[in-house]
Amino acid sequence: LSERLSGVFDKLTKQGALSEADVATALREVRVALLEADVSLPVARDFVKSVQDKAAGQAVTKSVTPGQQVVKIVHDELVQVLAGDDADAANLKIDQIPAPILMVGLQGSGKTTTTAKLAKRLKDREGKRVLMASLDTRRPAAMEQLAVLGTQIGVDVLPIVPGQDAVAIARRAKQQASLGGYDVYMLDTAGRLSIDDELMSEVEAVRDATTPRETLLVVDGLTGQDAVHTAENFDGRIGISGVVLTRMDGDGRGGAALSMRAVTGKPIKFVGLGEKMDALEEFHADRIAGRILGMGDIVALVEKAQETLEAEQAERMMKRFQKGQFNMNDLKMQLEQMQKMGGMQGLMGMMPGMGKMARQIEDAGFDDSVIRRQVALIQSMTRKERANPQILQASRKKRIARGAGQDVSELNKLLKMHRQMADVMKKMGKMGKKGMMRGGLG
Ligand code: GDP
Ligand code: MG
Repeated sequence: LSERLSGVFDKLTKQGALSEADVATALREVRVALLEADVSLPVARDFVKSVQDKAAGQAVTKSVTPGQQVVKIVHDELVQVLAGDDADAANLKIDQIPAPILMVGLQGSGKTTTTAKLAKRLKDREGKRVLMASLDTRRPAAMEQLAVLGTQIGVDVLPIVPGQDAVAIARRAKQQASLGGYDVYMLDTAGRLSIDDELMSEVEAVRDATTPRETLLVVDGLTGQDAVHTAENFDGRIGISGVVLTRMDGDGRGGAALSMRAVTGKPIKFVGLGEKMDALEEFHADRIAGRILGMGDIVALVEKAQETLEAEQAERMMKRFQKGQFNMNDLKMQLEQMQKMGGMQGLMGMMPGMGKMARQIEDAGFDDSVIRRQVALIQSMTRKERANPQILQASRKKRIARGAGQDVSELNKLLKMHRQMADVMKKMGKMGKKGMMRGGLG
């Protein structure tokens, strides 16, 4: 959108106020962009109308162009619609003990995963004692899945009793939660591939048996328009208190969020950003607004990609170090990392035990040009030499130093540093692999 819009906006007149024609032209593009982002048609139409009313005749602030001003109006309106006035949507209603939380949604939307993510969040952030129960009686694997996740995150799961129906399990969860002194019990219901009467009746019966304090609808953020039907149906029949939008780590544009919010009026409380147990975030209206408009998400994406890349690289190196392997390629990577991060806060700084050594090297006047020269030396080595620096005798050293335009003494300094670092690595490797991973990047 931003590209398309800037084209339009460049043409906007620079007079003192936004003319109706300016706004109309821009908003046609906004409407298309909304539809492309999977916002449903009636919602997009209403949205554009409300922006139109707000924008027309508004004075253009001196410091911005009319185009920027319309973008801001559109963005602000998006945030407004998305956020509503529920500032603390992420605070789940836990005002009785034990408080039931009912998780509903279609099969595959991410209910079970989200149940566990939320349980972990309640436990870690609020110190709540949580009990999870799977009501998915038709798929034994689904019950097993919740049990596995429970073990993984350290949250109790109601034991499976074969032959019980969903309502019976829900009652048992309630009882167990009361007896066991739990603050919260979470009911992970079965889903269907599409909405059907049987599913709704079952969920209704569970609701009536437990009177949930929160009923959260879990929706796949990639499903776009369908999400709106799902939300309408569940809200109409069961009554939901909020929405969790999953798979927002994918390339969906987030239009479903706007539609669901507009249609149901229910807050979006959380967003799922991956399969891992901590890939759950509070809903941030401005982020989704930026995403729908196609602005801002590029930056976030690039940052994220960089982070994962570095983390993966670091993990690979850690594995090697633990085995006592540290050759010239590893050193080169370290040096380049340091260069990139502007100092020793690189990988080494992140490793327990290495921080002190990192500071020493830094204190010894380890600046950018030094690093560059050292990298040049390593580059001047053959692959074999890099992998086994111990084969370097006088003639090889001479050749390498010459190749890098430096003295052999410089190369000797580098080799000495490498030996020292390799020693430390070896010692740390022996010290215990577990401890290192825990304190490090794990
Ligand atoms: P359920 O049938 O509604 O219980 O869905 P599940 O919780 O079993 O999830 C179905 C699949 O979606 C699993 O492979 C999950 O790991 C995956 N999943 C759930 N939430 C997310 C998310 O936010 N992002 C991504 N990428 N995958 C997710
Ligand atoms: Mg499930």
